[in-house]
Amino acid sequence: MLAHRVQPSIRVLRTYDPGHDLVALRNAANQTLVELCSNENPYGPSPGARDAIIRHIDELALYPDPRGGDLKRALAEQYSIAADQIVLGNGSHELLMQLAQVFAGPDTHVVASQYGFAVYAIAAAAVGARFEAADALPFDNEMAGGHDLDAIAAAIRAETHLVYLANPNNPTGTWFGIDALASFLSRIPTDTVVAIDEAYAEFVDAPEWASAIPLVQKYPNLIVMRTFSKAHGLAGLRIGYGIAQTELIGWLERIRESFNVNLLGLAAAEASLRDQNALERSVSQNKIERERLAELLRARGLFVFPSQTNFLLVRFGEAATRIDEALRAHNVVLRPMGGYGLPDCLRITVGTAEQNATLLAAIDAVR
Ligand SMILES: *Cc1c(COP(=O)(O)O)cnc(C)c1O
Repeated sequence: MLAHRVQPSIRVLRTYDPGHDLVALRNAANQTLVELCSNENPYGPSPGARDAIIRHIDELALYPDPRGGDLKRALAEQYSIAADQIVLGNGSHELLMQLAQVFAGPDTHVVASQYGFAVYAIAAAAVGARFEAADALPFDNEMAGGHDLDAIAAAIRAETHLVYLANPNNPTGTWFGIDALASFLSRIPTDTVVAIDEAYAEFVDAPEWASAIPLVQKYPNLIVMRTFSKAHGLAGLRIGYGIAQTELIGWLERIRESFNVNLLGLAAAEASLRDQNALERSVSQNKIERERLAELLRARGLFVFPSQTNFLLVRFGEAATRIDEALRAHNVVLRPMGGYGLPDCLRITVGTAEQNATLLAAIDAVR
Protein backbone atom coordinates (compact mmCIF):
# COMPACT_ATOMS: atom_id res chain seq x y z
CA MET A 1 0.00 0.00 0.00
CA LEU A 2 2.93 2.34 0.67
CA ALA A 3 5.20 1.07 -2.07
CA HIS A 4 4.61 4.10 -4.30
CA ARG A 5 5.72 6.35 -1.43
CA VAL A 6 8.96 4.44 -0.81
CA GLN A 7 12.04 5.99 -2.36
CA PRO A 8 12.91 4.17 -5.62
CA SER A 9 16.41 3.36 -4.33
CA ILE A 10 14.92 1.64 -1.25
CA ARG A 11 12.10 -0.13 -3.13
CA VAL A 12 14.55 -2.22 -5.13
CA LEU A 13 16.68 -3.19 -2.11
CA ARG A 14 16.62 -6.66 -0.69
CA THR A 15 17.04 -7.11 3.06
CA TYR A 16 20.59 -8.09 4.09
CA ASP A 17 20.86 -11.88 4.16
CA PRO A 18 22.63 -12.93 7.38
CA GLY A 19 22.95 -16.54 6.21
CA HIS A 20 21.18 -18.76 8.70
CA ASP A 21 18.59 -17.91 11.38
CA LEU A 22 20.99 -18.74 14.19
CA VAL A 23 18.52 -18.21 17.02
CA ALA A 24 16.05 -20.63 15.44
CA LEU A 25 18.85 -23.15 14.89
CA ARG A 26 19.97 -22.80 18.52
CA ASN A 27 16.44 -23.28 19.80
CA ALA A 28 15.95 -26.37 17.65
CA ALA A 29 19.29 -27.97 18.55
CA ASN A 30 19.62 -30.48 21.36
CA GLN A 31 23.19 -29.36 22.13
CA THR A 32 25.50 -26.37 21.78
CA LEU A 33 26.06 -25.54 18.14
CA VAL A 34 29.52 -25.19 16.63
CA GLU A 35 28.91 -21.73 15.18
CA LEU A 36 31.55 -20.96 12.58
CA CYS A 37 29.47 -18.63 10.43
CA SER A 38 30.06 -15.02 11.51
CA ASN A 39 33.81 -14.57 12.03
CA GLU A 40 33.42 -13.86 15.74
CA ASN A 41 36.23 -14.43 18.23
CA PRO A 42 35.71 -17.91 19.75
CA TYR A 43 37.73 -16.91 22.84
CA GLY A 44 35.36 -14.05 23.71
CA PRO A 45 36.11 -10.53 24.96
CA SER A 46 39.32 -9.74 26.85
CA PRO A 47 39.38 -9.86 30.67
CA GLY A 48 39.92 -6.09 30.59
CA ALA A 49 36.75 -5.56 28.56
CA ARG A 50 34.73 -7.86 30.82
CA ASP A 51 35.84 -5.91 33.91
CA ALA A 52 34.96 -2.60 32.24
CA ILE A 53 31.47 -3.82 31.36
CA ILE A 54 30.82 -4.84 34.96
CA ARG A 55 32.25 -1.58 36.30
CA HIS A 56 29.92 0.50 34.11
CA ILE A 57 26.75 -1.54 34.40
CA ASP A 58 25.16 0.72 37.02
CA GLU A 59 25.54 3.71 34.68
CA LEU A 60 23.11 2.28 32.14
CA ALA A 61 20.39 4.76 33.08
CA LEU A 62 22.62 7.50 31.67
CA TYR A 63 23.21 8.42 28.05
CA PRO A 64 26.66 7.55 26.75
CA ASP A 65 29.21 10.28 25.96
CA PRO A 66 27.95 11.50 22.55
CA ARG A 67 31.53 12.32 21.54
CA GLY A 68 33.08 9.07 22.79
CA GLY A 69 35.99 11.21 24.00
CA ASP A 70 37.80 8.66 26.15
CA LEU A 71 37.79 5.99 23.47
CA LYS A 72 38.87 8.47 20.80
CA ARG A 73 41.78 9.64 22.92
CA ALA A 74 42.87 6.05 23.50
CA LEU A 75 42.69 5.35 19.75
CA ALA A 76 44.47 8.61 18.91
CA GLU A 77 47.31 7.62 21.22
CA GLN A 78 47.53 4.15 19.70
CA TYR A 79 47.77 5.46 16.13
CA SER A 80 49.60 8.77 16.79
CA ILE A 81 46.81 10.83 15.25
CA ALA A 82 44.49 13.55 16.54
CA ALA A 83 41.23 12.58 18.26
CA ASP A 84 39.24 14.62 15.70
CA GLN A 85 40.54 12.32 12.96
CA ILE A 86 38.29 9.56 14.35
CA VAL A 87 34.58 8.86 13.88
CA LEU A 88 32.89 6.18 15.98
CA GLY A 89 30.14 3.94 14.64
CA ASN A 90 27.56 1.45 15.86
CA GLY A 91 29.77 -1.18 14.30
CA SER A 92 31.75 -0.23 11.22
CA HIS A 93 28.67 -1.30 9.24
CA GLU A 94 26.99 1.97 10.27
CA LEU A 95 29.98 3.99 9.05
CA LEU A 96 30.02 2.15 5.72
CA MET A 97 26.37 3.19 5.22
CA GLN A 98 27.10 6.78 6.29
CA LEU A 99 29.92 7.07 3.76
CA ALA A 100 27.46 6.39 0.95
CA GLN A 101 24.89 8.79 2.46
CA VAL A 102 27.47 11.56 2.58
CA PHE A 103 29.42 11.00 -0.63
CA ALA A 104 27.15 9.10 -3.04
CA GLY A 105 23.59 9.48 -4.35
CA PRO A 106 21.64 9.46 -7.62
CA ASP A 107 23.86 10.15 -10.65
CA THR A 108 26.96 9.01 -8.80
CA HIS A 109 28.95 5.81 -9.13
CA VAL A 110 30.36 3.56 -6.41
CA VAL A 111 33.08 0.98 -7.10
CA ALA A 112 34.11 -2.13 -5.18
CA SER A 113 35.45 -5.57 -6.09
CA GLN A 114 33.70 -8.75 -7.14
CA TYR A 115 33.48 -10.92 -4.00
CA GLY A 116 33.59 -7.73 -1.91
CA PHE A 117 31.72 -7.34 1.39
CA ALA A 118 27.93 -7.38 0.78
CA VAL A 119 27.32 -4.15 2.71
CA TYR A 120 29.07 -2.01 0.06
CA ALA A 121 26.50 -2.76 -2.65
CA ILE A 122 23.64 -2.23 -0.19
CA ALA A 123 25.08 1.11 0.97
CA ALA A 124 25.38 2.33 -2.61
CA ALA A 125 21.92 1.09 -3.65
CA ALA A 126 20.28 2.62 -0.57
CA VAL A 127 21.25 6.12 -1.70
CA GLY A 128 20.41 5.48 -5.35
CA ALA A 129 24.01 5.36 -6.59
CA ARG A 130 25.15 3.08 -9.40
CA PHE A 131 27.27 0.25 -8.05
CA GLU A 132 29.98 -1.49 -10.05
CA ALA A 133 32.06 -4.45 -8.95
CA ALA A 134 35.39 -4.78 -10.77
CA ASP A 135 36.37 -8.33 -11.66
CA ALA A 136 38.36 -10.11 -8.96
CA LEU A 137 41.63 -11.93 -9.65
CA PRO A 138 41.04 -15.37 -11.19
CA PHE A 139 41.06 -18.48 -9.00
CA ASP A 140 44.30 -19.70 -10.54
CA ASN A 141 46.04 -16.52 -9.37
CA GLU A 142 48.24 -16.80 -6.27
CA MET A 143 45.71 -14.39 -4.64
CA ALA A 144 42.65 -16.33 -5.84
CA GLY A 145 39.50 -14.21 -5.80
CA GLY A 146 41.42 -11.23 -4.42
CA HIS A 147 41.05 -7.58 -5.36
CA ASP A 148 42.51 -6.58 -8.74
CA LEU A 149 43.59 -3.01 -7.96
CA ASP A 150 44.29 -2.29 -11.64
CA ALA A 151 40.75 -3.35 -12.61
CA ILE A 152 39.35 -1.26 -9.75
CA ALA A 153 41.37 1.81 -10.80
CA ALA A 154 40.20 1.30 -14.40
CA ALA A 155 36.54 1.28 -13.26
CA ILE A 156 36.87 4.73 -11.66
CA ARG A 157 35.34 7.59 -13.70
CA ALA A 158 34.60 11.26 -13.14
CA GLU A 159 31.29 10.38 -11.43
CA THR A 160 32.85 7.75 -9.12
CA HIS A 161 32.45 9.34 -5.70
CA LEU A 162 33.31 6.37 -3.51
CA VAL A 163 35.38 3.17 -3.58
CA TYR A 164 35.12 0.43 -0.94
CA LEU A 165 38.01 -2.02 -0.52
CA ALA A 166 38.36 -4.53 2.30
CA ASN A 167 41.94 -5.49 3.17
CA PRO A 168 42.01 -8.31 4.05
CA ASN A 169 38.76 -9.04 2.25
CA ASN A 170 35.63 -10.80 3.48
CA PRO A 171 34.55 -13.36 2.23
CA THR A 172 37.73 -14.37 0.38
CA GLY A 173 40.31 -13.75 3.16
CA THR A 174 42.69 -12.32 0.54
CA TRP A 175 44.78 -9.16 0.90
CA PHE A 176 46.98 -6.68 -0.95
CA GLY A 177 50.26 -5.09 0.09
CA ILE A 178 50.86 -1.51 1.16
CA ASP A 179 52.99 -0.67 -1.92
CA ALA A 180 50.16 -1.76 -4.21
CA LEU A 181 47.73 0.40 -2.22
CA ALA A 182 50.03 3.45 -2.28
CA SER A 183 50.40 3.08 -6.05
CA PHE A 184 46.60 2.74 -6.43
CA LEU A 185 45.95 5.88 -4.36
CA SER A 186 48.48 7.89 -6.36
CA ARG A 187 46.71 6.96 -9.61
CA ILE A 188 43.11 7.88 -8.78
CA PRO A 189 41.41 11.29 -8.47
CA THR A 190 41.99 13.02 -5.12
CA ASP A 191 38.26 13.68 -4.75
CA THR A 192 37.18 10.04 -5.08
CA VAL A 193 36.72 8.85 -1.50
CA VAL A 194 38.48 5.55 -0.84
CA ALA A 195 37.27 3.52 2.17
CA ILE A 196 39.75 0.84 3.18
CA ASP A 197 37.90 -1.61 5.43
CA GLU A 198 40.45 -3.19 7.79
CA ALA A 199 38.01 -5.26 9.88
CA TYR A 200 40.53 -8.13 10.03
CA ALA A 201 43.75 -6.07 10.32
CA GLU A 202 44.74 -7.48 13.71
CA PHE A 203 45.06 -10.98 12.26
CA VAL A 204 47.48 -10.12 9.46
CA ASP A 205 51.17 -11.03 9.53
CA ALA A 206 52.00 -11.07 5.79
CA PRO A 207 55.17 -8.96 5.48
CA GLU A 208 53.95 -6.99 2.44
CA TRP A 209 50.76 -5.91 4.23
CA ALA A 210 50.61 -2.77 6.34
CA SER A 211 47.69 -0.72 7.60
CA ALA A 212 46.56 2.19 5.44
CA ILE A 213 46.18 4.38 8.54
CA PRO A 214 49.52 6.26 8.10
CA LEU A 215 48.51 7.11 4.48
CA VAL A 216 45.58 9.12 5.82
CA GLN A 217 47.93 12.05 6.52
CA LYS A 218 48.80 12.19 2.82
CA TYR A 219 45.39 11.51 1.23
CA PRO A 220 42.40 13.69 2.22
CA ASN A 221 40.13 11.28 0.31
CA LEU A 222 41.17 8.19 2.32
CA ILE A 223 39.28 6.72 5.27
CA VAL A 224 40.30 3.54 7.08
CA MET A 225 37.63 1.55 8.90
CA ARG A 226 38.27 -0.70 11.88
CA THR A 227 36.02 -2.68 14.22
CA PHE A 228 35.98 -4.23 17.70
CA SER A 229 33.73 -7.03 16.39
CA LYS A 230 36.37 -9.45 15.17
CA ALA A 231 39.76 -9.79 16.90
CA HIS A 232 38.58 -7.85 19.98
CA GLY A 233 35.61 -10.21 20.47
CA LEU A 234 33.03 -7.46 21.03
CA ALA A 235 30.63 -8.02 18.11
CA GLY A 236 27.63 -7.94 20.44
CA LEU A 237 28.41 -4.41 21.63
CA ARG A 238 28.55 -2.90 18.11
CA ILE A 239 31.55 -0.62 17.96
CA GLY A 240 33.62 0.40 14.98
CA TYR A 241 35.59 3.46 13.92
CA GLY A 242 36.95 5.30 10.93
CA ILE A 243 40.21 7.25 10.66
CA ALA A 244 40.70 10.05 8.12
CA GLN A 245 41.69 13.69 7.88
CA THR A 246 39.51 16.03 9.91
CA GLU A 247 37.60 17.36 6.91
CA LEU A 248 36.30 13.92 5.88
CA ILE A 249 35.50 13.04 9.52
CA GLY A 250 33.62 16.33 9.87
CA TRP A 251 31.29 15.48 6.96
CA LEU A 252 30.45 12.09 8.49
CA GLU A 253 29.85 13.71 11.89
CA ARG A 254 27.03 15.80 10.38
CA ILE A 255 24.79 12.77 9.96
CA ARG A 256 25.95 10.71 12.91
CA GLU A 257 23.16 9.96 15.39
CA SER A 258 24.20 11.64 18.63
CA PHE A 259 24.32 8.55 20.86
CA ASN A 260 25.17 5.99 18.19
CA VAL A 261 27.75 4.15 20.28
CA ASN A 262 26.45 2.71 23.53
CA LEU A 263 27.90 3.22 26.99
CA LEU A 264 29.10 -0.34 27.56
CA GLY A 265 30.57 -0.47 24.07
CA LEU A 266 32.62 2.68 24.67
CA ALA A 267 33.95 1.38 28.00
CA ALA A 268 34.64 -2.15 26.76
CA ALA A 269 36.39 -1.00 23.58
CA GLU A 270 38.70 1.35 25.49
CA ALA A 271 39.57 -1.40 27.98
CA SER A 272 40.08 -3.90 25.18
CA LEU A 273 42.59 -1.57 23.50
CA ARG A 274 44.56 -1.48 26.74
CA ASP A 275 44.48 -5.29 27.12
CA GLN A 276 46.97 -6.04 24.34
CA ASN A 277 47.92 -9.38 25.92
CA ALA A 278 44.45 -10.78 25.42
CA LEU A 279 44.40 -9.52 21.84
CA GLU A 280 47.76 -11.13 21.12
CA ARG A 281 46.57 -14.43 22.62
CA SER A 282 43.48 -14.48 20.38
CA VAL A 283 45.48 -13.55 17.31
CA SER A 284 48.27 -16.09 17.84
CA GLN A 285 45.80 -18.87 18.68
CA ASN A 286 43.84 -17.99 15.55
CA LYS A 287 46.96 -18.19 13.40
CA ILE A 288 47.88 -21.63 14.71
CA GLU A 289 44.37 -22.92 14.22
CA ARG A 290 43.90 -21.26 10.82
CA GLU A 291 47.05 -22.83 9.43
CA ARG A 292 46.21 -26.23 10.86
CA LEU A 293 42.62 -26.14 9.61
CA ALA A 294 43.67 -24.98 6.13
CA GLU A 295 46.19 -27.78 5.89
CA LEU A 296 43.69 -30.42 7.02
CA LEU A 297 41.07 -29.16 4.55
CA ARG A 298 43.63 -29.15 1.70
CA ALA A 299 44.65 -32.67 2.67
CA ARG A 300 41.02 -33.60 1.95
CA GLY A 301 41.39 -32.32 -1.60
CA LEU A 302 39.48 -29.09 -1.01
CA PHE A 303 40.52 -25.72 -2.47
CA VAL A 304 41.17 -23.24 0.36
CA PHE A 305 41.58 -19.58 -0.59
CA PRO A 306 44.62 -17.78 0.87
CA SER A 307 43.63 -16.06 4.13
CA GLN A 308 45.12 -13.56 6.55
CA THR A 309 41.94 -13.42 8.63
CA ASN A 310 40.05 -15.54 11.17
CA PHE A 311 38.13 -17.42 8.48
CA LEU A 312 38.71 -19.62 5.43
CA LEU A 313 36.80 -19.62 2.17
CA VAL A 314 36.61 -23.21 0.97
CA ARG A 315 35.41 -24.57 -2.34
CA PHE A 316 33.31 -27.71 -1.94
CA GLY A 317 32.15 -27.84 -5.57
CA GLU A 318 28.56 -28.50 -6.54
CA ALA A 319 27.89 -30.25 -3.25
CA ALA A 320 28.36 -27.09 -1.12
CA THR A 321 24.67 -26.51 -0.39
CA ARG A 322 24.06 -30.14 0.46
CA ILE A 323 27.14 -30.22 2.70
CA ASP A 324 26.05 -27.04 4.46
CA GLU A 325 22.68 -28.61 5.22
CA ALA A 326 24.16 -31.94 6.25
CA LEU A 327 26.60 -30.19 8.61
CA ARG A 328 23.70 -28.55 10.39
CA ALA A 329 22.39 -32.01 11.27
CA HIS A 330 25.79 -32.42 12.99
CA ASN A 331 25.21 -29.10 14.83
CA VAL A 332 27.87 -27.30 12.78
CA VAL A 333 26.86 -23.98 11.21
CA LEU A 334 28.90 -22.45 8.37
CA ARG A 335 28.19 -19.48 6.07
CA PRO A 336 26.73 -20.27 2.66
CA MET A 337 28.14 -18.10 -0.13
CA GLY A 338 25.42 -18.13 -2.81
CA GLY A 339 24.68 -14.46 -2.15
CA TYR A 340 28.30 -13.64 -3.01
CA GLY A 341 28.20 -15.46 -6.36
CA LEU A 342 30.21 -18.31 -4.84
CA PRO A 343 27.53 -21.03 -4.57
CA ASP A 344 30.15 -23.81 -4.59
CA CYS A 345 31.94 -22.36 -1.54
CA LEU A 346 31.35 -22.17 2.20
CA ARG A 347 33.02 -19.69 4.54
CA ILE A 348 34.37 -21.19 7.74
CA THR A 349 35.27 -19.11 10.79
CA VAL A 350 38.39 -20.53 12.43
CA GLY A 351 37.18 -21.85 15.78
CA THR A 352 38.90 -23.25 18.84
CA ALA A 353 40.92 -26.46 18.43
CA GLU A 354 37.91 -28.39 19.74
CA GLN A 355 35.42 -26.69 17.40
CA ASN A 356 37.68 -27.25 14.40
CA ALA A 357 38.08 -30.94 15.26
CA THR A 358 34.29 -31.29 15.48
CA LEU A 359 33.95 -29.51 12.14
CA LEU A 360 36.46 -31.78 10.39
CA ALA A 361 34.84 -34.93 11.77
CA ALA A 362 31.45 -33.67 10.59
CA ILE A 363 32.82 -32.84 7.12
CA ASP A 364 34.25 -36.36 6.89
CA ALA A 365 30.92 -37.81 7.94
CA VAL A 366 28.87 -35.93 5.33
CA ARG A 367 31.13 -35.89 2.26
C1 LIG B 1 32.59 -8.02 10.05
C2 LIG B 1 32.93 -6.99 9.06
C3 LIG B 1 32.70 -5.62 9.27
C4 LIG B 1 32.16 -5.07 10.47
O1 LIG B 1 31.35 -5.28 11.22
P1 LIG B 1 30.79 -4.43 12.44
O2 LIG B 1 30.43 -5.49 13.39
O3 LIG B 1 29.64 -3.66 11.89
O4 LIG B 1 31.89 -3.53 12.93
C5 LIG B 1 33.07 -4.71 8.33
N1 LIG B 1 33.65 -5.09 7.20
C6 LIG B 1 33.92 -6.37 6.96
C7 LIG B 1 34.61 -6.72 5.71
C8 LIG B 1 33.55 -7.35 7.85
O5 LIG B 1 33.78 -8.64 7.58
